[in-house]
Amino acid sequence: EKIFSGFSKTRDNLAVVDELLLYWNLADTDRVLDELEEALLVSDFGPKITIKIVESLRDDILAGKLKSGSEIKAALKKSVLDLLTKKGSKTELKLGFRKPAVVMVVGVNGGGKTTSLGKLANRLKNEGAKVLLAAGDTFRAAASDQLEIWAERTGCEIVVAEGEKAKASTVLSQAVRRGKEQGYDIVLCDTSGRLHTNYSLMEELIACKKAVGKVVSGAPNASLTLCLEILQVLDGTTGLNMLPQAREFNDVVGITGLILTKLDGSARGGCVVSVVDELGIPVKFVGVGEGVEDLQPFDAEAFVNAIFP
Ligand code: GDP
Repeated sequence: EKIFSGFSKTRDNLAVVDELLLYWNLADTDRVLDELEEALLVSDFGPKITIKIVESLRDDILAGKLKSGSEIKAALKKSVLDLLTKKGSKTELKLGFRKPAVVMVVGVNGGGKTTSLGKLANRLKNEGAKVLLAAGDTFRAAASDQLEIWAERTGCEIVVAEGEKAKASTVLSQAVRRGKEQGYDIVLCDTSGRLHTNYSLMEELIACKKAVGKVVSGAPNASLTLCLEILQVLDGTTGLNMLPQAREFNDVVGITGLILTKLDGSARGGCVVSVVDELGIPVKFVGVGEGVEDLQPFDAEAFVNAIFP
């Protein structure tokens, strides 16, 4: 499991707790829980989740429900797993019955949008889908070139902007129209990601969503969420900063799922739990490298086992 190669720091932090649990007895409770609190905080779980986990363990220990170190460890793992899955653990894409399904990726620059889209194209194509790429990041010229490389690598067709001043929403609606006419199963749309504090970026994303919804439904006022997955790409190494980022994008465009990238690097992982808990949005995929195969469906259990083996 590649996800296991990341999170080494989090694993090390939690290993200290693991060792204490090996020799645990009731008198050690405060010391162990203090150590656990520290380990969760430095692993980016954030204060809210950390307190929730630690205090519920303390209650169960004091109530006599957890009687050994191994029971405490199992309860700890279960509470993280529950936080990750209680708001729905469905990680499959919701592609609907209408063709083409549309998947749009959003997020700040450098997070891994274009790369993730390329990897997703490869994945869906291998599953037998006819995939069309749409280069909707019209601000960063290199983004289009980068997506063209992915198109070549994965053998997918691509729609790019015609002319310098083409609007992203125009490119995306052209792509979806072509997808509709030519019997594509899925249109994968890239978008710009200048700073998320930039108001006009949010305007643009709303325009993209509307333009796509209009073509998909054929009616200007039909549900925009029809067959539309909006996946936010979050850089796993940014720690708790990803929470306000995710909140802002979600408030504006309505995120249906998350792609967490760079988990092969120095990600500490805890923030995943915070984002899922706070926003109630499932993680659908994780990025574990730069190669074409390095996008995996998110497996909450594998995640928990990776940070706390
Ligand atoms: P965008 O600006 O959001 O489109 O981000 P890019 O797709 O251009 O990615 C930014 C950088 O992160 C590139 O160098 C990618 O190769 C790298 N990258 C993306 N995903 C991953 C990942 O899962 N693991 C690693 N190690 N690098 C990644």
